[in-house]
Formats: sequence, C-alpha cells, structure tokens
Amino acid sequence: MRKILIIAIVIVSCSCREIYQRPKVAGDRIKIVATTSILGDALKNIVGDKAEIFILMGAGTDPHMYKPAYADVRKLIECDAIFYHGLHLEGKMEDMLVKLQRIKKVVRLSDALSESDLFYMDDKKRLPDPHIWHDVNLWQLCMLYAAKAMAEIDEKNTSYYTLQSEKYLLELRQTDNLIRDIIKDIPPKKRIVVTAHNAFGYLGRAYGLEMKSLKGISTVSEFGLYNLSHMIDYIIENEIMAIFPENSVPEKLMFALAEGCEKNGWKVCIAPALYSDALGDAGGKAGTYIDMVLFNIEIIAEYLKKTAHDHTCGSTRS
Ligand SMILES: [Zn+2]
Repeated sequence: MRKILIIAIVIVSCSCREIYQRPKVAGDRIKIVATTSILGDALKNIVGDKAEIFILMGAGTDPHMYKPAYADVRKLIECDAIFYHGLHLEGKMEDMLVKLQRIKKVVRLSDALSESDLFYMDDKKRLPDPHIWHDVNLWQLCMLYAAKAMAEIDEKNTSYYTLQSEKYLLELRQTDNLIRDIIKDIPPKKRIVVTAHNAFGYLGRAYGLEMKSLKGISTVSEFGLYNLSHMIDYIIENEIMAIFPENSVPEKLMFALAEGCEKNGWKVCIAPALYSDALGDAGGKAGTYIDMVLFNIEIIAEYLKKTAHDHTCGSTRS
C-alpha cells in the first residue's frame, strides 16, 4: 500500500500534466471522483447527466480507516476533477488529495463552511469534527459550493448546474423541515442519543439532541473500560431506553454496553444501526443522502420515545 502511495506522490510531484491527463474525445462526459458514498450521491443530483461520478468508498465503508487501492489511485490520477470532504475525514489519503491539486481541480467541500460553522474537539481548534452532513443546513452550503465548483470545471454547462442545485437545495430544505417535525414528537427529557463514535455532533446541535458516544470523532480512536463503565452508569442514571449502533462501526461496542447495563439491572434496547459515515446499499432504505438522514431521524425518534410500558427495555428489577 505504501508503494502505491509513493508512486502516486512521485507522479503528482513531477507535474507531468500532459502524460497523466486523460485524452479528451468529443462528446465525452466529465469524469469526477468523489471520495464517499454520501458525497457521491449528493453530487449526482447536481451534475445530472453532464458528468460521470466514480465513488471510491462504497456503502458501509468507514472513511476514517480507508486506504486507497491501486485501482483508486488510477481513478484519482485519470479523472478530470476530485471532490472530497476534508477536515481529516479521509485521514489516510488527505496528503495525496492535496498533492493532486497540482495537476487537476480538487474540491474540498468543507471549504464551503466558516470556522463558526464547525465543531472543534480541542481548545486549539486543530481537530474539527468532519461529520458536517448530519446538519442538513450545513450540507446545503456544501452543495451550493459544489455547484459553483462544477460551473468552473465545466463552464459551458453553468446554467444547468445552477438549475440542478436549486432543485436539490429545495429538496434539502424540505428534508430539514421534516426532521424538525419528527423531533417535535420526542419528549424533551428523552432526547439523548448514545452512539459508538461521535459522528452526530452536528445533528445534535442543529436539531436539539444531546449526543453521547464511546469513541471520539474518528473511529481510529480507542476507548477504555473506563469509558464503558461511565457510559453504563450514565445510561442507568438517565433511564435511557435505547442505544444506537452505526453501519460503518463494528456492533460489538454496543453489545458490550448493553450487556454491561443488563448486569446492573437495566435492559437497554439496541436500535437498528444508524448511517453515520456511509450510505446503505443503493435502492435500500438509506441508499441516498436524503433517505439516510430521514432513516436516521425516524429510528432515533422511534427508539427515544420508548417507555417502560413497552416491556422491551427499562429496569429488569422487580
Ligand atoms: Zn466518522
């Protein structure tokens, strides 16, 4: 793997544009690479039939841990433009993406946002939370930025990209309103969401949910027994009925948490997995960005509204 990265970096460093840029054929569609499935789906709404999008990380792939394969490096080098999130989401390939700017248009979507839009996990503001898409309003700013970038990449279709983005932004605004309506039905005291890694900070801030997680903002970080026992105490003290696994993080963490609660006389329900950093399979319940955010909020609402009367979770002590 190291070898592939070195080859790519050498290629990029030599600035041999004419060698590595794809020969253009009349009528050829623009070729775009998007790093994640979430970004790829959103971009498809903007580029419509004017560009071809190749997604590096498919459904259920964890971007924090992803290392590009040889075929990915080829795609990155041969495409016309690259879109990625930034803020260290693509932790293992960010250096390569930055270097590729020397030979082609590379769009970092998080540049659409200002410092005040972001969450930082440290006082020195070195560790921004990259999971911006869980706030649909912030994602709208990113999509507007993506549409402007497409107009620069393919100037002759500027009005097409503007029209497409206007349609998509309207859908995103409707989605945002729907999420707010769903949250209104959750009793305020029950709006605590326990997850495996801290991917939903923006969701919590935007829609008034308190987020708690075992791991940090990257799945790379470890958690200790200390975190686990503290979380068990927190769940029992706050009478939390459900915890939420994620599609791109192994479920064993959530099972360990549920088991720990049960040993202490509290049965916590394990909800269906939320989609945090990757879409579900195409055509499925979370196969698009909009379906993903709506699926997540519906599951969160259903499980946070559970009460002891449901007899599925709550105290096991008589
Ligand atoms: Zn993440």
